[in-house]
Amino acid sequence: MRFHQALPTGAYDVARYLSETGVWEFGLRRGAGGLRVCANRVGLAEYEVDYAAGPDPLEAGVLFQVVKIVIEAHPEQVLSGWLAGALPQCRVRDQPCEACSHELLRLAALSVQRSRAPSRSLWKERTFS
Ligand SMILES: [Zn+2]
Repeated sequence: MRFHQALPTGAYDVARYLSETGVWEFGLRRGAGGLRVCANRVGLAEYEVDYAAGPDPLEAGVLFQVVKIVIEAHPEQVLSGWLAGALPQCRVRDQPCEACSHELLRLAALSVQRSRAPSRSLWKERTFS
């Protein structure tokens, strides 16, 4: 999916993004431990993705970008619950979590690699035709 910026709401008071067909919401909000990076299906009250990003906007912005890369690697059609299963579920509530940050960075790097790798079918075409 691809996110585009949208008007902030109460649930996303710092920055809000919507997927192309408006099914997924993603962004930054003020909450426990400073800023939080969150995502959910539009219309569902619970955040499916919810990470404490600390009080520093620059640090929070880095986590925001990393999580954005990871989520955008998933198709927009995934059902609710999918992202919760695909991204680390953090048990640290109110402060940035190093373990989750590392795992998210790993997932983001994988996503970038996959999006840049030529597909297998293309490779076959080039090799055998
Ligand atoms: Zn964590």
